[in-house]
Amino acid sequence: MTRILFWIALIVLIVMAVRAKLRAMTPKEPDAPRAEREPAQVESMTRCAHCGVHFPASEAVRADGLDYCSPAHVRLPAQ
Ligand SMILES: [Zn+2]
Repeated sequence: MTRILFWIALIVLIVMAVRAKLRAMTPKEPDAPRAEREPAQVESMTRCAHCGVHFPASEAVRADGLDYCSPAHVRLPAQ
């Protein structure tokens, strides 16, 4: 009888240890909403009129109403 109680106690301890481990592994819900923790860094993208590469609009070289990735591509024909 003592042997059965020992095994039951051992199994309960193992289950409790596994549950505690799983609880420690799951990420906790943050208190602050996501928008408060990291402000959105959304920047509009544009496309080079010559080579077609996409890049942030703030880095665009604008000429004749078109966006270019670099001053060198401004001199080249748009595609
Ligand atoms: Zn380009």
